[in-house]
Amino acid sequence: MFRIKAQKCKACGDPLQGRSDKLFCDDRCRVQHHRSSNELHALRTGVDQILRKNRALLANVRSKMHRQFTSLDCAYWLRRKGFDFNFHTHILHLSDGRMAFMCYEEGYMLDGNGIVPWQNPMNNPKILLSARPPL
Ligand SMILES: [Zn+2]
Repeated sequence: MFRIKAQKCKACGDPLQGRSDKLFCDDRCRVQHHRSSNELHALRTGVDQILRKNRALLANVRSKMHRQFTSLDCAYWLRRKGFDFNFHTHILHLSDGRMAFMCYEEGYMLDGNGIVPWQNPMNNPKILLSARPPL
């Protein structure tokens, strides 16, 4: 049996009347929908920019140029360069009980008042990962 699915406004969810390809009740709903989707896009873009900047700064601080840094120097350097400690992609639980705050494949661990750049265990066998977080 053929049934016509009732269409609903993409903004407010009210049933639509009129043309079958209509998406919104009226201009007000259309504008509201586009504004909210633009705000979400701006939010996603902003978060992605912060994460990419954090990742680049972590890669930089881990590089040879900054190896003479103490953990406090690393934290200050990252903060001065605009690192945002509120954003990371995920957390790794290390076998020694510490956590690595990751921005994609780069990360850091807390060390007193400073931070230590996380090193991929494939490049540093001294750091081993556990599959599960500690209990
Ligand atoms: Zn509507």
